[in-house]
Amino acid sequence: MKLEHQKNIQMLNTLRIPSVANAYVNCRSLLEIRQAIAWACDHDKKVYVLGGGSNVIPLQHIQGLVLQPKLKGIEVFVHNNDEVLVKAGAGENWHSIVCYCVERGYHGVENLALIPGDMGAAPIQNIGAYGAELKDVFWQLEALNIQTQQLEVFDFADCDFGYRDSVFKNAKRDQYIITSVTLKLSTKAKPNLSYPALASHLRERGIDNVDAKDILNAVIHIRRSKLPDPRLVPNAGSFFKNPVVSVQQYQTLLASFPDIPAYEVSLTQKKLAAAWLIEQTGWKGKPLDKVLVHKDHALVLTNPSCEIADKVLGLADAIARDVRAKFDISLELEPRLIGEL
Ligand SMILES: Cc1cc2nc3c(=O)[nH]c(=O)nc-3n(C[C@H](O)[C@H](O)[C@H](O)COP(=O)(O)OP(=O)(O)OC[C@H]3O[C@@H](n4cnc5c(N)ncnc54)[C@H](O)[C@@H]3O)c2cc1C
Repeated sequence: MKLEHQKNIQMLNTLRIPSVANAYVNCRSLLEIRQAIAWACDHDKKVYVLGGGSNVIPLQHIQGLVLQPKLKGIEVFVHNNDEVLVKAGAGENWHSIVCYCVERGYHGVENLALIPGDMGAAPIQNIGAYGAELKDVFWQLEALNIQTQQLEVFDFADCDFGYRDSVFKNAKRDQYIITSVTLKLSTKAKPNLSYPALASHLRERGIDNVDAKDILNAVIHIRRSKLPDPRLVPNAGSFFKNPVVSVQQYQTLLASFPDIPAYEVSLTQKKLAAAWLIEQTGWKGKPLDKVLVHKDHALVLTNPSCEIADKVLGLADAIARDVRAKFDISLELEPRLIGEL
């Protein structure tokens, strides 16, 4: 285990926020993770888990230990005639796993192509895009309990997945380090074209007998044409979750804002488009303290001058305040804070 002190983790988060961790360690094995936890325990340090850093806001000074679980390895098991189980280490890159599966004819992850980050983080917020979510292909995961140092297995029911949500953001928050994730994938093609923009992209190009590779390429194309590349423009993807409201609250809003877009979640709930709400407050394309709301995506905050977390959160607060004032809706941050407030 190679512990580093006073480590600047600016290049380890996609918002390029300068942040100095009192201690940092990159762990390549379960043994190294256990050693790092033991060190944190001996030195009374809180453990902060960092994956690819694409969904975090690191505060300027982090007193605890930042631990990156970079466990590698991919194993494939035959599950039954039509299905395989693909188990990958937490440190594998998510998009590389997607490509690995598509190349071998394992179907189910292609709609989730190009989402930045590591395998181990994918269950944390049940990553989702283009009509699919991790939960659709999730089989189980292994995670180290930080308190007991025991490795535990979480099945689908244990994870309590929801929209950009799981048990690891709620009851079991900050208690586990996910070490591997296993997906259940089909060897039979099952194209998911439920997302209208994806279906029309393929239709416009005259692709009829759609397979997983077509979907993978289409998703990559759409994402590259729409979203800013964090390597060029520091960002963390969507900065706010789409708010879910009761049908009653939606009806009240509809009376004042007849154009308000909404998607059905259940018979009693509707999901609103956070981007639309932000646009209505006039923040799209606007800066505050050199942090910007993207000119094409009201949901994406960009940090071109690599400002500290306080500045990024300052813009987020200003947006949330204006949305609350106009719509009486509280926006929730999607990225997680790392460090002590
Ligand atoms: C340009 C861009 C586009 C994006 N598009 C999407 C999208 O379409 N859909 C979507 O859902 N998300 C999207 N995201 C968000 C992000 O890519 C995902 O949330 C991703 O899963 C984060 O992975 P990460 O490895 O970077 O995690 P990090 O940002 O490092 O960590 C995120 C959270 O997970 C925890 N964590 C990480 N690894 C582990 C582990 N092994 N064990 C326990 N906890 C862990 C961290 O403590 C933190 O709370 C986007 C981000 C960017 C920058």
